[in-house]
Amino acid sequence: MSFILALDQGTTSSRAIVFDENGSICAIGQQEFEQLFPSPGLIEHDPITIWESQLAVAREAISQAGIEASEIAGLGITNQRETTVIWDRKTGEPVHNAIVWQDRRTADFCRAIPESDAKKIQEINGLVVDAYFAGSKIRWLLDHVEGVRERADAGELAFGTVDSWLVWKLTGGKHHLTDVTNASRTMLFDIRTLEWSDPLLDILDIPRSLLPEIKSSSEVYGETDPGLFGSAIPIAGIAGDQHAALFGQACHDSGQAKNTYGTGCFMLMNTGSEPVPSSHRLLTTVAWKIGDETEYALEGSIFIAGAAIQWLRDQLGIIASAPEVESLASEVADTDGVYFVPAFAGLGAPHWDGFARGTITGLTRGSNKAHIARAALEGIAFQTHDVLAAMVKDSGIELAELRVDGGASQNDLLMQIQADVLGVPVVRSQIAETTALGAAYLAGLAVGVWENKEAIAEKWQEAGRFTPDPASDMKKKLAGWKAAIERTLSS
Ligand code: ADP
Repeated sequence: MSFILALDQGTTSSRAIVFDENGSICAIGQQEFEQLFPSPGLIEHDPITIWESQLAVAREAISQAGIEASEIAGLGITNQRETTVIWDRKTGEPVHNAIVWQDRRTADFCRAIPESDAKKIQEINGLVVDAYFAGSKIRWLLDHVEGVRERADAGELAFGTVDSWLVWKLTGGKHHLTDVTNASRTMLFDIRTLEWSDPLLDILDIPRSLLPEIKSSSEVYGETDPGLFGSAIPIAGIAGDQHAALFGQACHDSGQAKNTYGTGCFMLMNTGSEPVPSSHRLLTTVAWKIGDETEYALEGSIFIAGAAIQWLRDQLGIIASAPEVESLASEVADTDGVYFVPAFAGLGAPHWDGFARGTITGLTRGSNKAHIARAALEGIAFQTHDVLAAMVKDSGIELAELRVDGGASQNDLLMQIQADVLGVPVVRSQIAETTALGAAYLAGLAVGVWENKEAIAEKWQEAGRFTPDPASDMKKKLAGWKAAIERTLSS
């Protein structure tokens, strides 16, 4: 039996999962780590904590699985995307905490980027200019941390997203590299040539000397330092979390899509071997590169989804746990005209309004907590609808079904509402850990545990299917939702 170790370095926790060659889970290690909030809107992680927690859970998973490192054929990495680390090439010391993807400190900088430059960023890298991406965070570190600009110019420093940082640490500083999916989230990358882009480096004024080498998503990049796990393990797969989830959901063909319902929602649609430019403010991104084959995706990022349920729990106190929202919302058949737009952190795709704030509209004397709970679920489903509508317009592809995963996808009522709003079946996959599984598949392909994508697609199994109810009036409610969005936008 061969094993693959997947490292899933997420925003709030580091996880490691040992998979066997059937794609079944043998053991999981998980550690939450500290979120640092230096001031409102700023979110940081300590890169050393990221590394130490990731190493600890990897060791825990190997030991729990009852195997030796020598039995592990390959290691795959998937990671929170866009989060930015700069460290010293000699000492390995980070120059600052990691700036996390949610951090808004560069919003004003991004707003000041001239329209013509923003157009170039979109044309070349496929991204809407936003503080979300790594490029403006690198620029902030160059401008605000003493000595960083000079040391970068002298070639002493290395930039990486979390995948690069982990590879550096895992290989004892031997390799400074990233994969195409992580590179495609920087505003510095050309998604067609798959190289760093000089015009974009000029726009953001970032020295090339900082940047990692760009690799495919599935190949042997190097080996782990033998001292870490007892023997060296080939590092053989890397993909950003949402790309890995698309792969883990076996959305290998053009027109297949998945939506992950976690803190936010991230919907990606495979669009095949050519990038599809978006006229509706979606992101064009590299889905993965395997061998010589590159596939692309359209992505819609929704910043608040499951977090709205946490808000009902922690701020309003109308539920004691997230799953309770389902029974509360089921107490009413309808929201009675209440709409909830959870724009707590601005609105992402397709609106990209960083200054929008949440609203609840349509309240009457008769509105109660069940109406609000149901409106929160509907708000998640409507946001997903808006992203999918933009994807269909951009790609001309009609979706056959939507594959789903993430914590909130366990909510049957939400999934039924989603199917009714979209008018397409919503399908839950059997393995909930699609992100780690995707990273494991990418690594396993490189070391021959799985022969090809077809062998992987055969393993995908459905665990639940929600078909649109022809009697549902959810689609009729879209006009009311649109009006609620209008009230939420900042201008
Ligand atoms: P992340 O990886 O972003 O931390 P998870 O995939 O672990 O997210 O999902 C957690 C999120 O899902 C939380 O925001 C939580 O409120 C929400 N959630 C969990 N269970 C349910 C449920 N049954 N119904 C609705 N939301 C849920």
